[in-house]
Amino acid sequence: MAKHAPVKITALDTYDIRFPTSRQLDGSDAMNPDPDYSAAYAVLRTDDPALAGYGLAFTIGRGNDVQKAALDALRPYVVGLTLDEVTHDLGGFAARMVGDSQLRWLGPEKGVMHMAIGAVINAGWDLAARRAGKPLWRYIAELTPEQLVATIDFRYLSDALTPDEALQMLRAAEPAKSARIEQLLAEGYPAYTTSPGWLGYTDEKMLRLAREAVADGFRTIKLKVGLSVEDDVRRCSLVRQTVGPDVAIAVDANQRWDVHAAIDWLRRLEGFDLAWIEEPTSPDDVLGHAAIRRAVSVPVSTGEHTQNRVIFKQLFQAGAVDLVQIDAARVGGVNENLAILLMAAKFGVRVFPHAGGVGLCELVQHLAMADFVAITGRKDDRAIEFVDHLHEHFDDPVTIRDGHYLAPTAPGFSARMHESTLVEYRFPDGPVWSEQTVAALH
Ligand SMILES: [Mg+2]
Repeated sequence: MAKHAPVKITALDTYDIRFPTSRQLDGSDAMNPDPDYSAAYAVLRTDDPALAGYGLAFTIGRGNDVQKAALDALRPYVVGLTLDEVTHDLGGFAARMVGDSQLRWLGPEKGVMHMAIGAVINAGWDLAARRAGKPLWRYIAELTPEQLVATIDFRYLSDALTPDEALQMLRAAEPAKSARIEQLLAEGYPAYTTSPGWLGYTDEKMLRLAREAVADGFRTIKLKVGLSVEDDVRRCSLVRQTVGPDVAIAVDANQRWDVHAAIDWLRRLEGFDLAWIEEPTSPDDVLGHAAIRRAVSVPVSTGEHTQNRVIFKQLFQAGAVDLVQIDAARVGGVNENLAILLMAAKFGVRVFPHAGGVGLCELVQHLAMADFVAITGRKDDRAIEFVDHLHEHFDDPVTIRDGHYLAPTAPGFSARMHESTLVEYRFPDGPVWSEQTVAALH
């Protein structure tokens, strides 16, 4: 390498990483009875051996076959770029992939290809934050309003949010940023837990985990619902009796119902003072969510499967949700999530980020914390989901204390997995797989 040659992206390495979580029914819900938490994992290598960027798309098993192929398709769009072309122009880095017409045909801006692009965009942000020596939340928060707005694609949004409005919001938050950074470092960011509530768990296990969650400082617990209304009434009743009136209980149907079924079912659960119903129906059904919200007193939410900023815009414009989830690995990376966070702030909708799976807690904490510092200034009326699975595979795992995520201080997006995990859990050479999974290979 010549002495002053710019550092370049030399490779996009991709990995199919799968964990056999279905053995314990961890993660089981009304639509996903046997998830094997998996990551289609992307590494942007550079010709500086000490500097790489890490990202992932989360799947629940066999989807990784397709997801990894989508990552592989992105190699020509990133290999050969200089480091500056990535980290100094994260808007352009995203636009080249999102805007490529032949890839765009597969969406546009939704599904497998968009998730793969999101993983690589996030790896670019990870690279930028590592290069700057900052955790991603702080890297985002310390960009200027102009720099942040330059990363966002406002196409299709201007009837709900213009670049000038976004600039005004970000500028209004600027004077308080440094105080909020100190507050965040001191207090952390509220977490809520789904660990007690998986549908495959017995009542005894659910109640034991609910008691432990409250003792650990969590103020909100989420239960999976949607297989049997009688079971759901019993489970909500048991948990409400166990945790008392001061701990919030949310429920999550994972898209199980048609609109009228959701309304009938939720009327049976209205007496338990639920904090929200999550994903009552198809994530694409904006008007369906609005109809459910009009019909029941339980606050309505969705978002972990909401495919892009356009559907979020419609959810806000239609008054279809009381709150939303965002997911760090579903849409087109940090850039699109910034657009969603800004719209949520403008429409006054609280964000309860989706996490769990593998790596989603590590990733999304940064977005919530950046939102607190640089956009809304709010954190105590919202919370990030927490599930205590698979954190041990990451170099910089989340830290939870007294029901709060502690702000990461290591540089980057916390997405880097141990090298040993990339070897041991690489599919299909890793753990012993279930007969069903092995059968699907043939
Ligand atoms: Mg959910």
